[in-house]
Amino acid sequence: MNRRGLLLILSSPSGAGKSTLTKMLMAWDSTMRFSVSATTRSPRPGEADGREYYFRARPDFEAMVAAGEMLEHAEVFGNFYGTPKGPVESAMKEGRDTVFDIDWQGGQQIRNSSLGRDVVSIFVLPPSIAELDRRLRTRGQDSDEVIATRMAKSRDEISHWAEYDYVLVNEDLTDTFERLKTILTAERLRRDRQPRLSDFVRGLNTEFAAR
Ligand code: 5GP
Repeated sequence: MNRRGLLLILSSPSGAGKSTLTKMLMAWDSTMRFSVSATTRSPRPGEADGREYYFRARPDFEAMVAAGEMLEHAEVFGNFYGTPKGPVESAMKEGRDTVFDIDWQGGQQIRNSSLGRDVVSIFVLPPSIAELDRRLRTRGQDSDEVIATRMAKSRDEISHWAEYDYVLVNEDLTDTFERLKTILTAERLRRDRQPRLSDFVRGLNTEFAAR
């Protein structure tokens, strides 16, 4: 039996560094798949349809939900976001790991689904609220009003930290990335995630018997 891919869920308030960490992880291991979510929000400058998100009109998004094509979906900042099921299922079958950049609502839904045992969840915390505010502002993409809404949502998001398997306080990006790779490496080495381990040990026993 082939190894099943694991589902690495990263959640954090906006500005804690989750998207950057996700990109670093994808660049580090090209076998990993990024789960491209569908959203009803408008693209930001530099974002491309099918790369960061599938940008969809509300009726199209609702049709995907009604057709059972979403693994999870939730409303965030007044827009809808959801994870298309198909690519996740194919990655798992191919034994590839998938990275999800989703909020706590999505994390909860996937953890409580039939795929729950394949989930490894990580919550990324900012070193302080002042630093979170600074990072949101220097990103320079959002208006003051949008930033204020995001700060309020951050508080709500952070209140769910204890639902995650791991927590990373992102003080220094390089250091946090090292810890993220350590988590992934260890989770891949779990006994039940290593393929054909019993065949391997059977081989060792055959060797013992032949001595
Ligand atoms: P943004 O609009 O800044 O890209 O994302 C806003 C929030 O929505 C982030 O916390 C992000 O992780 C979350 N998000 C993105 N895609 C999904 C998704 O498919 N499902 C859920 N539940 N949240 C998502």
